[in-house]
Amino acid sequence: MMRIRYFLVVLPVALLIALAGCSSGAVPASAEIPPLSATLPSPLPPIPSAVPLSPTRPLPTAIPLPSPTLSPTSTPLPPSTTPVPATSTPEALTYAFPVRGARVEYGAYHHDYPATDIFCPIGSAFLAPTSGVVDYVSRIDIWDPATNLPQDRSGLAVAIIGDDGLRYYGSHLSEVAEGIEPGVRVIAGQLLGLTGKSGNARSTPPHLHFGISHPTTPDDWAVRRGEIPPFEYLKAWQRGESRSPAQ
Ligand SMILES: [Zn+2]
Repeated sequence: MMRIRYFLVVLPVALLIALAGCSSGAVPASAEIPPLSATLPSPLPPIPSAVPLSPTRPLPTAIPLPSPTLSPTSTPLPPSTTPVPATSTPEALTYAFPVRGARVEYGAYHHDYPATDIFCPIGSAFLAPTSGVVDYVSRIDIWDPATNLPQDRSGLAVAIIGDDGLRYYGSHLSEVAEGIEPGVRVIAGQLLGLTGKSGNARSTPPHLHFGISHPTTPDDWAVRRGEIPPFEYLKAWQRGESRSPAQ
């Protein structure tokens, strides 16, 4: 009977003490806890080092991103520091009748192709009809009536490329003015040569053959001799009007 009472009283008290100890975290002095070092395996296993990359395997190179395409409209223009001059205000070109100082006769008709024969005394001044650059000069007369080659029929001749973009051509000259060479710049009314009878004008009344065409090579005689009928422009220039065949 006493033994049963002992267990009924003592055991619950012991359990309470044990539970209180656990909740406080205190370690009973009598607990045999092995030192920390004893709990770890000794020696420590080596930490696996990083696996070296194979030297034969190249490092993956970064794929370059495509550079953004620059759009001309998206790129802001740098601020302009110099004023841009207006480009659409060309000076009005002036024109001059191509023969000076002589009585001249010419008509609207020309044989075979557009051009004008301006009949005038030998030695009349042949003038640049407008400003431009000398394109072609022939100072020798190699025309032979036996062959009558079309490229030789002009005799002495001068052509300029006007600032209006057209080619102006005068042939059958007796003389080319000094200093008139390809590349030389001339102004309207500047002396290019003297009229004459060279080329196949040898047996005709003296005249200046005057042709207007687009720019061409000197040997392109079919174009250089004339493409645009000059008559109405010659009339205008004689009246003092600067009417352009380029319009
Ligand atoms: Zn002619």
